[in-house]
Amino acid sequence: MHADILIKNGSCMTMEGKEIKDWVAIGQSRIIGVGTENDYDTLLGEHTVVLDARGNTVVPGFIDSHFHVVQTALDSVSLDLSGVSTHDDVGERIREASKSFVGDYIRGIRLEEGQFVEKRFPDRKLLDKYCNDVPVVLNSLEYQVSMLNTCAMLFFKIPFTAEGIETDERQMPTGIFRKQANAILRSNILKNISDKVRKEAVSGIMETLLMNGITTINAMEGGFMYSDKDADFVFENSRNFPIDMELFYQTTDIDKIKSIGLKRLGGCLYIDGTLGARTAALSFEYADCPGTMGSLCFTQQEINEFVVNCYRNNLQLSLYTIGDRAIEIALNAHESALYQTGITGLRHRLEHAELANENQIKRAKELGIIFSMQPTYENYWGGRGKMYEQRLGERYLLTNPFRQIVDNQVVICGGSDSDITEPRPLLGIHSAVNHPVEQHRVDVYEALKMYTCNGAYAIFQEKEKGMLKPGWLADVVILDDDILKAPPDKIEKINVCVTIKSGEILYNSLG
Ligand SMILES: [Zn+2]
Repeated sequence: MHADILIKNGSCMTMEGKEIKDWVAIGQSRIIGVGTENDYDTLLGEHTVVLDARGNTVVPGFIDSHFHVVQTALDSVSLDLSGVSTHDDVGERIREASKSFVGDYIRGIRLEEGQFVEKRFPDRKLLDKYCNDVPVVLNSLEYQVSMLNTCAMLFFKIPFTAEGIETDERQMPTGIFRKQANAILRSNILKNISDKVRKEAVSGIMETLLMNGITTINAMEGGFMYSDKDADFVFENSRNFPIDMELFYQTTDIDKIKSIGLKRLGGCLYIDGTLGARTAALSFEYADCPGTMGSLCFTQQEINEFVVNCYRNNLQLSLYTIGDRAIEIALNAHESALYQTGITGLRHRLEHAELANENQIKRAKELGIIFSMQPTYENYWGGRGKMYEQRLGERYLLTNPFRQIVDNQVVICGGSDSDITEPRPLLGIHSAVNHPVEQHRVDVYEALKMYTCNGAYAIFQEKEKGMLKPGWLADVVILDDDILKAPPDKIEKINVCVTIKSGEILYNSLG
C-alpha cells in the first residue's frame, strides 16, 4: 500500500514511551507506518504528498480536554473588554459598539474587578450614561458576575426575588448580578440564541483550533450557567465540524443522559465556585477576605447519592472541583460509591482540581480518578503578585502541583477551559513546564502527554488517538521547532505549521 501522506525529516515523538522516529506515513484516515532514516521507500507512490518537517517536532494531534465550545464561539463575536482600565473607558467602548452591533444586544466579556483603577465592576448607572437605548450585558471573565444597563434589565426579565441581585442603599438594583440571578440571566440569554447562530459561530472558530494543532476537544456544554440548548446543539451537530467534539453534558439528569445514549456526564458540574469570585470551597479563609471560605453547591449526602447513581448506571462522571474542600467531598463520594458498588474502570474525572493536597492526590490514585487540569491558569494567575496570591496568600505555593500529581501516577489530561484561557496547547505545555513554583514543574514529555495520550485515555480513545502508531487515527501536528531542544522558557513561541485530522491536511503554513 502506498502512503497518501509522508512526513519525513521529523523528530517524531510517538508518545509511546520516549520513542522518537524520523517519519510517519498516512494512508486514508490512519497512520500506516512510522520508522527511522529513509526506510519508507516502499511506501512512496506516485500520488504520495511528502511533507518535510525539517528536523522539527512531529506529535499526535492535540486533545483539549476542557473546552466550552459554544461559549467560545459566541464570545468570538463579542466585545473583549479585558484590556480596559477605567469604567469610563468601558463606557466609551460600549458607546462605540452601539453604533454597529449585530443581534438584540451588546455583549462585553472578560472583565475582572482587579483590572479597573476603581477596583470594582462598573454598574447600571455608569452603563446607562453611555448607552441607554440598547440592552448591554457584560460578563466577568469566569461568568460568575454579570453587569446590565437598565435597558437590559427590562429586556431580560430577571425575577427580583432571585438570590444574588446586588442593591444600593435605597434598595435599587445596581445592575450587578451574581449567583442564582446571574445563572437565570445567562440561561435566558443563551436559550434565545438560534442554532443557526451557534453553527456560524462554532464554524468560525475552527480555523483557530486547527492553527493551534487541536484535533479533538471535550465539549463542556449545558447546565447551570449555560444552556442545555448548547449541549443539544453539540450532540446533534458535532459530526459537521472538521475536528472531533466529545460531548460532556453538564447535567445531573441521568435519565436524560441514558435516553440519548451517552456514556458520560458532567464537566463544569459545579461542586464549588471559582477563586476569582472567592466561591471556591477552601479548608481555610481567603487571604483577602477573612471569614470567607467559599461555598459548596451540594451537601455530602446529595453528592454521595448522585455519584453512586452514576456508578450504578456505568457512567463516566466529571465533577468540577477547585478548592480542597470541594475535592474532599467529591473524593468522599467516590470512595463511598466504590465501596457500595465495587464498580471500577469508569475513569471518573475531577475538572480543575487546582488545590488538591497530597492526601487527596493519593486517594485519587487509589480510585483511578483522572485530574483534568488547566496549566495555563498558572501562566495567568500563578506566582507572586497575581490572583492566586491575592486570594490565597502564601498558599499560592500550593496551586496546580503537577509534579506531585504525576509522581503519584494520577493521570492528568490538559485543557484550556476556553474561553477562560486561550485554546493553545503549546501555551498549556509551556505553562506546565514553567510553573512559577519550581517544585511543581514537569518536563516537556510529561506536559505533552497531558494534551495527547492522557487526553485520549480520559475519553476512552487511547487505542486510536494520542500516539503516532500504525493503526491509530492520522491526527498529526508538525511544529516549527524542535520542542525537546528549545529553551523551556521559549516553548510558548513555538507554532504549529501543519495540522492533519483523520488523514486530511486541514492547516498548512509550510509553503
Ligand atoms: Zn469549564
